[in-house]
Amino acid sequence: MTGMVDFAIVGGGIVGSAVARELARRKAGSILVLEKEPALGRHASGRNSGVIHSGINQKPGSLKARMCVEGGRRAREFCRRRGVPMTECGTIVVARGEQERRVLERLLEMGNACGVPDLQILTSGQLAEREPQARGAAALLSPTGAVVDSVKFLEAVAEEARSSGAEYRLGSAVIRAERGRLWTAEGPIDVGHVVNCAGLHADRIARMMGVRPDLRIIPFRGEYMEVEGLDVRGMIYEAPDLRFPFLGIHLTRGVDGRLLAGPSAVLSFGREAYEKEILVKEAGEMLSWPQFWRMALSPSFLGLAWQNARTSFSRRAFEREMLSLVRAPGPVRLRPARAGIRAQLVDAAGRLVDDLVLERAEGSTHVLNAVSPGMTASLAFADYVADAALKGDAAAAKAV
Ligand SMILES: Cc1cc2nc3c(=O)[nH]c(=O)nc-3n(C[C@H](O)[C@H](O)[C@H](O)COP(=O)(O)OP(=O)(O)OC[C@H]3O[C@@H](n4cnc5c(N)ncnc54)[C@H](O)[C@@H]3O)c2cc1C
Repeated sequence: MTGMVDFAIVGGGIVGSAVARELARRKAGSILVLEKEPALGRHASGRNSGVIHSGINQKPGSLKARMCVEGGRRAREFCRRRGVPMTECGTIVVARGEQERRVLERLLEMGNACGVPDLQILTSGQLAEREPQARGAAALLSPTGAVVDSVKFLEAVAEEARSSGAEYRLGSAVIRAERGRLWTAEGPIDVGHVVNCAGLHADRIARMMGVRPDLRIIPFRGEYMEVEGLDVRGMIYEAPDLRFPFLGIHLTRGVDGRLLAGPSAVLSFGREAYEKEILVKEAGEMLSWPQFWRMALSPSFLGLAWQNARTSFSRRAFEREMLSLVRAPGPVRLRPARAGIRAQLVDAAGRLVDDLVLERAEGSTHVLNAVSPGMTASLAFADYVADAALKGDAAAAKAV
C-alpha cells in the first residue's frame, strides 16, 4: 500500500481486527492495520479467559450490555461457521449463601433486562447434575456462555479482514500520531482517518492526537493458575461484587481441555508487566497521576486491592478461594499459568470506567475502554466503531 491510506487502525487485537474486517467488508477504502508486535494475540486478545460471555453481569441499557449480547451471538455464529474451536457449555454462577443468592437474583433481573436468553435458576440438585463438584445452595445457568480459543478466533477475524482487502503491517509500532499522519520507525504515513484500537496504550495514542487527555489507562493484571485434580466440566463463577467491573475468580475448562482458575485483578506496575515485574518509568508515571491517587485511596478500592493482592502472592489463599467454589475429591495441584493485563480506563475523578468508551474527533476515532467482555463484544462493537469512523467529521463530532 503506497501513498495515502484511507483508514489506519492502530492495534491488531480483536477490536482492531474486527474493525478492519468491518470497514473492509463495507468497501470503505484502503485499510492498513499497524501492529507493534511481530505476531497477533500477544496482549489481551490472546491472554484472556476465552469466554464468550452471555451478558448476565452487564448493566441494562449500557453500550457494553448491548454489544455483549449481540456480539456474543455473532461470535458464536462466526466460530461455528469458521470452525474456531469452541465449547458451548453455558455459564454457571454459584451462590454459597443467602447474600450471594440475592446477587444471583439481581443477575437474573439484569440478564433478563439485557435480553440474555434462557436464564434459569438451578436448585442444588440440578447444579450437582451439571457440575457434581460445585458447591452452592443454588446457581444461575446462562446456557449461551461458551469458551473459545481466543487466538484462533482473532486469527480467523484477521484472516477475513485480509481477504476482504485490509493490509496488516506487523512489527510496526506507531510512535507518533497527529491528525492526518502517523509515524512508525520507517517514517510517516498519510492517513485519512485513524482508528485507535491500541488496547493498553490507547490513552497514549489519543493524547498524542489531543483527545481526552483527562483519561488514563491503569493496568490491572489477571493471573491464572492451571488446576489438576478437579472435575469441572464447563465454567463455574462465584457471585460477583457488582460494585467493580471485574468478575471474581472462576474456573474455566478451556477448549484444549486444561482447567484454568482465575483471573485475579491486581494493580500492575507496568502496562505489559506480565511477570509481576515493576517497570520503574511507567510505574513512576502512574504514581504521578492525580487520577491514580483518587482511585487508590477510595475505601472500596482498598478492599478490592487487599483481597486480590492476597490471592496473587499467596498460593494457599488462591487455593482457598478456588475451593470455596468446588469440592475437591483429593489433592489439587496448582501451577502458575499465563497472565493477562486489563486496560482499565480511569476518569479524572479516579473512578473505574465501566462502559465501553468511544471518542470521535476530526480525523480519528478512539476505542478507550475495551475491557471485558471486549472479545465477546468485538464483532458487534466493530459495526458501531465503523459507523462512527465513516460519519463525516463534522457530523460525528456533534453526535458522539
Ligand atoms: C485477564 C483478562 C481476561 C479476560 N477475559 C475475557 C473473556 O473471557 N471474554 C471476553 O470477552 N473478554 C475478556 N477479556 C477482555 C478482552 O480480552 C479485551 O476486551 C480484548 O482483548 C480487547 O481487545 P483489543 O484489541 O482492544 O486489545 P489488545 O488485544 O490488547 O490489542 C491491542 C493491540 O494494539 C497493539 N498496540 C498497542 N500500542 C500500539 C502502537 N503504538 N502501535 C501499534 N500497535 C500497538 C498491541 O500490541 C495489541 O496487539 C479479558 C481481558 C483480560 C486482560
